[in-house]
Amino acid sequence: MIKKDLVIIGGGSAGLASAVSAFDNGIRDLIILERNPELGGILNQCIHPGFGLHHFHEELTGPEYADRYINEVKKRNIPYLLNSQVLNITKGKIVTFINENGVQKFEAKAIIFAAGCNERTRGQILTPGYRPKGVYTAGLAQKYLNIYGRLVGKNVYILGSGDIGLIMARRMTLEGAKVLGVSEIMPYSNGLKRNIAQCLEDFNIPLRLSNTVTNIFGRDRLEAIEISDVDEKLQPIKGTEKIIKCDTLLLSVGLYPFNSMLKNAGCVVNKESKGSLVDQNLETSIEGIFSTGNVLHVHDLVDFVSEESERAGTNAAKYILNKLSEVKNIVNVSHSKNVSYLIPSIIKVREENENIIFSFRVRKNIKKATIILKNPAKVHYSVKKINLLPAEMIKINVKNLNLLDCNELSLEVIEDE
Ligand SMILES: Cc1cc2nc3c(=O)[nH]c(=O)nc-3n(C[C@H](O)[C@H](O)[C@H](O)COP(=O)(O)OP(=O)(O)OC[C@H]3O[C@@H](n4cnc5c(N)ncnc54)[C@H](O)[C@@H]3O)c2cc1C
Repeated sequence: MIKKDLVIIGGGSAGLASAVSAFDNGIRDLIILERNPELGGILNQCIHPGFGLHHFHEELTGPEYADRYINEVKKRNIPYLLNSQVLNITKGKIVTFINENGVQKFEAKAIIFAAGCNERTRGQILTPGYRPKGVYTAGLAQKYLNIYGRLVGKNVYILGSGDIGLIMARRMTLEGAKVLGVSEIMPYSNGLKRNIAQCLEDFNIPLRLSNTVTNIFGRDRLEAIEISDVDEKLQPIKGTEKIIKCDTLLLSVGLYPFNSMLKNAGCVVNKESKGSLVDQNLETSIEGIFSTGNVLHVHDLVDFVSEESERAGTNAAKYILNKLSEVKNIVNVSHSKNVSYLIPSIIKVREENENIIFSFRVRKNIKKATIILKNPAKVHYSVKKINLLPAEMIKINVKNLNLLDCNELSLEVIEDE
């Protein structure tokens, strides 16, 4: 079996950024495995602008952003295999993959898992009604349009106000389709504010909050849908039904980490984020297996994927080169109820003072909040923030955190008046 210091699974923005930083931190025996015929991941189908404002301080399209990292990979001659689908990972870090040369295996000292996320489908949200043609996930419709040049329908309704749905509302309008509206079951949108403004409001596309699709009509092709308002328990309110004639329904009802391979390898799952449970170095519960990008937790901004993945690459390099010092203390990290997930869940304390990045999302819109990091004995960090939204991941970088004498840490988001 071929031995490798580092195998990176996935050649999207997470895999590319982690490969570059592992290389820059001394790793030469590494490889990226990508199942698609090109590097770049989901960015290749995101031809709209809006990428790179934080990382490169300029506005790029998805393919332009991917190209920056692909060039860095090529400059360093980092090897990669395309059309190579990873089938399995073991606890012992054996990676099995298949490509035109058949099934092959690498034995790795370390693995970075960067396989992205999946879209939730109709089956997962149990929409009632017939099963006609014309119901697509928004990302699939985006792939048809931007990669294969095919418009999937002409009279379109969108369920869910996630960013992909919002982007597709504008994209399909620009390509000549009529987008009749967007229904969002929650009382707030799940998309970025700028996407609501630029993709719906600018094109007079109505956004119906606290509203959902309650029936689907049409035996061969979709002919119409029924939408209804919902109550506080998200149950349809009788008498509010409205029929909308359309030939296409796009679902933009959430993404979830494509984490099953790590779960099968025995990595402990973070039940809230649905990715793996990781420490502050992005190492999973199996030593030497790291996880980053959308497979760890779904990101709204690729810039944060790059930053996180550079950290994964640096830490994997330190692990391979035995540069990680001894663990002096272990701290479990919890959070308050209004936080939906938090990364990391555990801190392996190696230094007296460490800089640690915490990423999380809130469960509801919060206008003003104080974010506190504390244990029963001490408040370690506190910061005030405004306009926290579930759609936007929040990242705080806490410097010089001394956790040598602490067993538990809690991140609390306190709503201010
Ligand atoms: C529609 C849409 C619009 C967006 N708009 C913006 C925006 O305007 N601005 C912004 O900053 N961010 C935006 N984002 C977010 C950002 O682009 C993503 O969060 C980021 O690109 C995800 O990177 P990733 O590498 O984690 O995942 P991906 O890009 O999905 O890469 C994962 C890679 O792993 C590969 N892979 C998966 N399984 C295997 C396997 N078994 N074997 C081998 N390879 C495998 C996949 O083929 C893929 O190439 C958008 C995302 C989407 C989906």
